Amino acid sequence: MTQSTPNVFTAEPARNLGLAIRRGFMERCPNCGKGKLFRAYLKVNARCPNCNEDLSHQRADDAPPYITMLIVGHVIVAGVLAAEDIFPQSPLWLDALIWLWLTLVLSLALLPRVKGALVGYQWALRMHGFGGHEDEM
Ligand SMILES: [Zn+2]
Repeated sequence: MTQSTPNVFTAEPARNLGLAIRRGFMERCPNCGKGKLFRAYLKVNARCPNCNEDLSHQRADDAPPYITMLIVGHVIVAGVLAAEDIFPQSPLWLDALIWLWLTLVLSLALLPRVKGALVGYQWALRMHGFGGHEDEM
């Protein structure tokens, strides 16, 4: 789908989904790709400081931690199992130190990026008010 293809449901121009997700993952505004998406670690700016796009419609809720846990869990479990094969005699305290630290660092590094990607996804699909009208309750 390109940016110039109209949305068949709303007649509004479609937004580039992949580009918006990539920009969000890089913690940038899904619209311009230049403005910062976050004003704090996980606090999304109400408006883009560069293009003034309204970002207050995002409803990421608890999806970013869920997706982050899904990714980190798969990486860590695979790593632990592979390391156990390669270094079967490694001391337990060393395994715990490495894998717990890696779990923490990976989770904290991925969480805002996953949230940004999700905000980009919602923006590109005009969800939750990003299309100019609020959700019906
Ligand atoms: Zn922007």
